Amino acid sequence: MNRRIFIGAGASAALTAQTGSEWGGPVIDIHLHPRRGGGESTAHVDGMGAARAVLLTNLRDAERAKAEVAAHPARFAWFAAADPSMPGNFDALQKALDSGAKGIGEMKSHTEADAKDMRRVYDMCAERKVPVLIHFQETSKFTGEEGWNTGFAKFDKVLKAHKKTTFIGHANFFWASISTDVARESEYPSGPVKKGGLTDRWLADYPNLWGDLSANSGNNALSRDKAFARGFLARHQNKLLFGSDCSCRDGHGTGSGALLPSLKNKCVGRETLALLKELTTPDVFRKITWTNATRSLQL
Ligand SMILES: [Zn+2]
Ligand SMILES: [Zn+2]
Repeated sequence: MNRRIFIGAGASAALTAQTGSEWGGPVIDIHLHPRRGGGESTAHVDGMGAARAVLLTNLRDAERAKAEVAAHPARFAWFAAADPSMPGNFDALQKALDSGAKGIGEMKSHTEADAKDMRRVYDMCAERKVPVLIHFQETSKFTGEEGWNTGFAKFDKVLKAHKKTTFIGHANFFWASISTDVARESEYPSGPVKKGGLTDRWLADYPNLWGDLSANSGNNALSRDKAFARGFLARHQNKLLFGSDCSCRDGHGTGSGALLPSLKNKCVGRETLALLKELTTPDVFRKITWTNATRSLQL
């Protein structure tokens, strides 16, 4: 492609992203990590055909996220995260909210989801009226990747004890738990879903639990059993949020490190948007990709 054509294609992609026409309306990605090196977060949002994104930011990258929000206030908001067991981090998270963070997340540390330090963060989120997004993962085939916010099977205790906290669940074990036959080793289970899984039940039973459909895990939950997914998306249409958690550079799969064979070299976000389009009505698609986040959660 010569340079002139390439520039033309880029400009038209940016225009499409602003008008939201590629997906029939504007899309917000509630799960993007700020990229190293300026401009790349924008490249992913534009390339995927989205209008906005929430930058989930470890506190060590806070300055980068703030700079992106300052440069594009209409396109980005940011959440702050840190290991709450480390000295000073609780106060640092409060300060991040003071300086404009719209939520806490993603929380991802080697701790029990109902550890004392975590519960202190949940209380703070209730007080400040901001959501907390949590990565639930019990095991992994990669050393050091196992055991993030463990103990999901008894997370209903937390949901009951922190009724005023808005929890957004995400990752391997959260999404494997749409099925009752989830094993602790489950990461990306395939095949038919057995109805009555904890995630499905708790989304129905607890108004303070929401679901983030990002990453390999969210995509897998929709693709493994499409008949189940249609019903699931319809049932929880007011509490599900589209996110990408994609590491590709351009919203088209370049440099994608996606793990699932079906997502290899693809943009996880773009593939999940296509699945949502296939499995929902236009009204439900709009809720999950825009209004639930922008209106209900006021992001
Ligand atoms: Zn995660
Ligand atoms: Zn991508």
